[in-house]
Amino acid sequence: RRPLRRWGGELTAPGVAPVDRYQTDRTLLELTFDEASVGMALRRFDGTALRVNRAMCDLTGRTAGELTKVTPEQLTHPDDAGIEHMLMAELEAGTRHGYEVEKRYVRPDGTAVWCHISVSVLDRGDGAERLLLRQVSDITERKAAETKLTDVALHDGLTGLPNRLLLLDRVDHALARSRRQVSSVAVLFLDLDRFKIVNDSKGHAAGDMLLTTVAERLLRALRPNDTVARLGGDEFVVLCEDLSSPSEASTVARRLLHALSRPVDLDGREVVVTASIGIAVGQQGSSADTLLRKADSAMYQAKARGRNRAEMYADGLEERAVRRLETEQDLRRAVERNELVVWYQPQYSLPHQHLLGVEALVRWQHPTRGLVLPDDFLPVAEETGLIGDIGSFVLEAVCRDGMRWGTIDPGFRLAVNLSGRQLETPGFCTFVESVLARHGIPAGRLCFEVTESILMDIQGSTARQLGQLRALGVHLALDDFGTGYSSLSYLTSFPVDQVKIDRSFVADLDEGRRSMAVVSAVIGLAHDLGLEAVAEGAETSEQLDRLRAMSCDAVQGFVLGHPMPAGQIDALVTSASTLRRAVPATS
Ligand code: C2E
Ligand code: CA
Ligand code: CA
Repeated sequence: RRPLRRWGGELTAPGVAPVDRYQTDRTLLELTFDEASVGMALRRFDGTALRVNRAMCDLTGRTAGELTKVTPEQLTHPDDAGIEHMLMAELEAGTRHGYEVEKRYVRPDGTAVWCHISVSVLDRGDGAERLLLRQVSDITERKAAETKLTDVALHDGLTGLPNRLLLLDRVDHALARSRRQVSSVAVLFLDLDRFKIVNDSKGHAAGDMLLTTVAERLLRALRPNDTVARLGGDEFVVLCEDLSSPSEASTVARRLLHALSRPVDLDGREVVVTASIGIAVGQQGSSADTLLRKADSAMYQAKARGRNRAEMYADGLEERAVRRLETEQDLRRAVERNELVVWYQPQYSLPHQHLLGVEALVRWQHPTRGLVLPDDFLPVAEETGLIGDIGSFVLEAVCRDGMRWGTIDPGFRLAVNLSGRQLETPGFCTFVESVLARHGIPAGRLCFEVTESILMDIQGSTARQLGQLRALGVHLALDDFGTGYSSLSYLTSFPVDQVKIDRSFVADLDEGRRSMAVVSAVIGLAHDLGLEAVAEGAETSEQLDRLRAMSCDAVQGFVLGHPMPAGQIDALVTSASTLRRAVPATS
């Protein structure tokens, strides 16, 4: 838009000759000013108004008389003050003839109006005083729409929390501020444990409800200055500013874990959610991206260390995280390409050392890394949910091999390790039943080994699955006994058939009398409860003798047999049955 060139006298627009009398009709021109739909004000450079129109009065909520007494600066919202100073100075200096800004005016009742303001200099060119014409239009609605749009772009639709984009921006600002103020900034990366199971079993609506509840609890547990963002899925990030020390972040994490620990009511069903939290504290020169990545790897560490806990980022974690990622990708392929194999370790009865059965132990025949042991890939499989596929594969293999061994020894026992994730999968019990039926294996030959932590952790549907498994006739063993909470109290609510004494106690049998006392107490207790005691990890014949003397019922360990491929078990089963036929009366 070109500014009007002249004020007063003959008013012309460039290129238009004043041929029409309307163009020189002063009253008509004044009327046009007064009735224009945009707010107009004719002012001096010092801010005093010479004339304002009706639209200007409507827009600012003031009378023409009031408007002549206030400067535009006084009309302006305090947050927008000062944005015209520079431009105004340029107008005065003559280096600029007009400008446009967007800013807020405040009405006497306190409401703000977003305005598009166009200011131009009116210069008659004859040395007379230069004046300013302000034209103001109300853009409040457009601004509201824009704000809403950026709001949508920067917030998570479900919970209304800031999203990743806004979070990164805030972390960047927080880091900059902390450099100036010598305070700490911490980022807490929070991921719900086993959220997928709730989502899959109870439906997306329930999942959404759970996420909203989590968001509310996090907000309530934090200080007003902290930011909670949702990155998507079940991942949340908390930004804490102004921490007096990095350890304060751990306190915050504990508070968050506590806030989440109360059961959540999902349509009448109570669900307990826990979370794993990774903490990273900002350092000299850290960027928002690296801080978030560090907190993320610390979170994986928290998952690996058993979930429902917080871990602080430590150097080297990231390399481990990279390796973990590689393992994950590799592992997906491994399942598809049948690189997993099941090996078996024989179990023998005591005192006479008859072959009772086997424990299935999964191995990964890696194309470049060679034979990988379960401790190196099962934690990743657990986290990623691949454990479900692996577990199914193991069960299939065990039943296929077990069917063959059953033709020689019909009671030949098959022990299979079970992860918590498998039990949490809806329909697991039905799956087990169908695999057993397909291979014609009686349920009584199968024994699932579960750890104490699984039993401790157990929730409604998991407990039901365990009950259903037992109802099928499948046996249960308590694995690694003595390493966890070692409380037998829950054995009454989750009855098992076997207690497996952890190999660390068996290894200690050589040394102290203390472990002798522990092992013999556990065996006694098991017998009192009507359970079988099975010792793991016997490596020497002395350990074997001691276990036998303590009336341990069964044993497995390197001294009697390492884990081995199925083919070698074939031979063992055959020779054991030959032996039994030759010496029938020894058990
Ligand atoms: P676990 O259930 O305690 O299995 C016994 C582990 O002790 C096996 O390690 C076995 O090789 C080892 N072991 C046996 N005898 C001896 C001994 O005399 N001395 C010593 N030092 N160790 C002995 P492995 O095969 O590396 O398995 C490690 C763990 O991985 C298992 O511990 C089990 O919790 C888990 N696991 C193995 N296979 C599966 C599976 O198919 N599914 C699930 N969910 N977990 C599995
Ligand atoms: Ca086991
Ligand atoms: Ca064990």
